Amino acid sequence: MSSKIEELARANVRALTPYQSARRLGGNGDVWLNANEYPLAVPFELSQQTLNRYPECQPKRVIERYAAYAGLTPDQVLVSRGADEGIELLMRAFCEPGKDAVLFCPPTYGMYSVSAETIGIEYRTVEARDDWQLNLPAIADQLEGVKLVYVCSPNNPTGNLINPEDIRQLLEMTRGKALVVADEAYIEFCPQASLTGWLQEYPHLVVLRTLSKAFALAGLRCGFTLANAEVIALLMKVIAPYPLSTPVADIAGQALSDQGIALMREHVSQLVATRDRLIAELRNLDCVEQVFSSDTNYILARFTASSQVFKTLWDQGIILRDQNKQPGLAGCLRISIGTPEECERTVAALKLLPGSPVSQEQA
Ligand SMILES: *Cc1c(COP(=O)(O)O)cnc(C)c1O
Repeated sequence: MSSKIEELARANVRALTPYQSARRLGGNGDVWLNANEYPLAVPFELSQQTLNRYPECQPKRVIERYAAYAGLTPDQVLVSRGADEGIELLMRAFCEPGKDAVLFCPPTYGMYSVSAETIGIEYRTVEARDDWQLNLPAIADQLEGVKLVYVCSPNNPTGNLINPEDIRQLLEMTRGKALVVADEAYIEFCPQASLTGWLQEYPHLVVLRTLSKAFALAGLRCGFTLANAEVIALLMKVIAPYPLSTPVADIAGQALSDQGIALMREHVSQLVATRDRLIAELRNLDCVEQVFSSDTNYILARFTASSQVFKTLWDQGIILRDQNKQPGLAGCLRISIGTPEECERTVAALKLLPGSPVSQEQA
């Protein structure tokens, strides 16, 4: 009965565990705090009705507006199907399977390893230090054959920024040998920390951005790679001929208008206020061991009984993200910042858990 199709697949694809995206993990929630999405939909209307035509490969309006937003020139900007596609395009353009490697520092974003495994490129990991900063001497020891170093800042799922001086040292030790890719998916929550201002100084720096988080457009699938023109030109060789559909380019252009950017900034300041209230409330709960500070739209917290917390909230329709399996994150759950009401519901559910003051009073 066996169709032998499985045996036809590439060995690395047979061995691959696909990215456990929040959507794939399922759940029957009505409070979705597991994918770092913006909690409310921003309405858009399509203005283009030319779906009989192929779209532009790099829609001019989107590129120009993003370049202006990022303080760069259009030839320093590539737009793609989410930042995830940017992660993969870099590997396809710079890494020879079976020869070159990529490097990153867990605990961090899961797609760096999934993309490397899919393409069949070796990946090396150098665990972050206990303070979740780069272990530079250990990275220096591992750089032989590495073409890309992914540094997520602020880091997902820990929420902290990577010290800029450490990134500078990393850029010095990789000069002429490898690219340093700064994943700035959450940079709108701490815009002063962006490294785009360093592109002039470092030809091998690359910055990844997305409309999925602060811009509230995860469903649009639109991300950006920012780099010097030479890097962008190489990525243009391997990108699909029509990576963005016409409706995506249409809406991305609107989101990057002055009005769209102003709205995003309003959303960011509301989320930051909600986040800081949630951090304060979580710190008062007995079931919470530690709440880490955050420069993003999510919070990482360590719980006294995280699997029980995760399941109890899951059963009530509040879906969090379990980070328990990541190195150094035993007992940790990640909570995306939802609406104030969603955060209140989460705190209320946590207050009823064993070990917390309310449930002890009731007992
Ligand atoms: C969400 C996220 C991305 C992916 O963004 P998309 O544009 O939705 O593909 C990339 N990097 C990090 C760190 C993220 O959290």
